[in-house]
Amino acid sequence: MLPRSIRRAAMAAALTLTLAVPLPAATAATAAADPAIDSAAARGPAPGAPGIGDVYFPDYGNGGYDVRHYDLKLNYQPGADRLDGRATLLATASQSLTRFNLDFLLDVQEVKVNGRTAAFARTGAHELEITPARALPRLLPFVVEVTYSGTPGSVTTPGISTPWLRRADGALALGEPEIAWWWYPSNDHPADKATFDISVTVPEGKQAISNGVLASRRTSGGRTTFHWVMDKPMATYLAMLYVGDIEVHRARSSTGLPVTTAYDTTLGPRLEFAKASVERTAEIIDWESSLFGRYPFSSMGGSVVNENVGFALETQSHPVYDSIFFESGPDVGVVVHENAHQWFGDSVSVGQWRDIWLNEGFATYAEWLWSEKEDTGTAAELANAIYDEIPADHPRFWRTVPGDPTPASLFYASVYWRGGMTLQALRGAVGDQDFFAILKSWSRIKRSGNGDTAAFIALSEKISGKRLGPLFRTWLFEPGKPAAPPAPVTARTEAQAGPPASYASHKRFHELLHGPA
Ligand SMILES: [Zn+2]
Repeated sequence: MLPRSIRRAAMAAALTLTLAVPLPAATAATAAADPAIDSAAARGPAPGAPGIGDVYFPDYGNGGYDVRHYDLKLNYQPGADRLDGRATLLATASQSLTRFNLDFLLDVQEVKVNGRTAAFARTGAHELEITPARALPRLLPFVVEVTYSGTPGSVTTPGISTPWLRRADGALALGEPEIAWWWYPSNDHPADKATFDISVTVPEGKQAISNGVLASRRTSGGRTTFHWVMDKPMATYLAMLYVGDIEVHRARSSTGLPVTTAYDTTLGPRLEFAKASVERTAEIIDWESSLFGRYPFSSMGGSVVNENVGFALETQSHPVYDSIFFESGPDVGVVVHENAHQWFGDSVSVGQWRDIWLNEGFATYAEWLWSEKEDTGTAAELANAIYDEIPADHPRFWRTVPGDPTPASLFYASVYWRGGMTLQALRGAVGDQDFFAILKSWSRIKRSGNGDTAAFIALSEKISGKRLGPLFRTWLFEPGKPAAPPAPVTARTEAQAGPPASYASHKRFHELLHGPA
């Protein structure tokens, strides 16, 4: 994700661990999915946990099973904002289950498990509690079918503004971490990734864009069905749906992958700037592939929406951009950012939301690398300029540690910029050759899976042969401004003094950090 405020500012430009226990404790994907296994095996059939084990969001996701595939068959009526759906989930029980939960908010008509009608109930803030007719044996696959309907744009839940955006001509499903509850039932946490088939039927003439490859498009009786296929594991929040009057372009990348770009037909003067940016997606992905390794997905593209969501999001294989990024000119940096997430965030996902810097610090650093390539300021210069700009007594920035930012600061500037500074400090410590080897190795080893901070540090130490605990501790976990800047201060000529050229909207950057809270 890239909030517009951070984008403008940046390019204008703690869990407080003890020293003895420098790294976050074990992790994520496996830790979240597995603890139930052994204890439950000993205990016999039991209900699955209502949360997957996220330390920030204890009731997000669920325990006791792992989803392998989602097949969504949706029928959407714009105007009325009426969504009728049937979701078929293929899952495997990780414990013997008498009952299990999905996360979902719309009205449910029927649930079947392995073809038999199952009882269901609403519990908690967003739980759909399902009791199958027979207990589900541990380690065996099972099938869940949920038939549902609703008007997602009018469904609310306390503390979260509804991320499903109803439009006059369609709808947009986009959000992080919360969005899936409004349009499909799921095990809603990035620790449980799955492949997807998403079929959406809309009135003829409307477009329906989602993730992956468009496998088919069929029209009959005045309705058109778009069938999208995401054949690589995807975190639930990275599934998107965009329905409406949309200008769609199809092309092929240099590597032969399908490229779908889409633009709201009401963009007006922003359309030209949006195209000047998003039509460079394949070129940007080629460049990122040279730095991060093979592109992880079978398609690429992006949509530009006129919804004033205030951010862009790295929805898998097809990011979505608020048109506000293209308000006054092209913005290639945001395209660099969201596509860098295809490696860092999408292919390699967090297993705990706490590790969000592995997404945002890396995507931010990709923007700085682009600036370096474009000769508008090196990553080292940008990292140091931001370090210099933010005073040690800033009320929030240095107190927020990227390695454990708290749920309220999940997308705060520190996660992005101090996260990026962390990578700059690493690059300085290990040298360019090892640094880029670490990035490539990380995206290869963790491809289609989950990563955590401890594993990234371990990999960095293994590749570089250096002890890096103190460096990561300083930049990721210790509140307060580190004593030394992320990059050594080098002598610069008089003409070069001042922030690098890509550090352009300095004013906005200053406002964001120092302006009214
Ligand atoms: Zn981001």
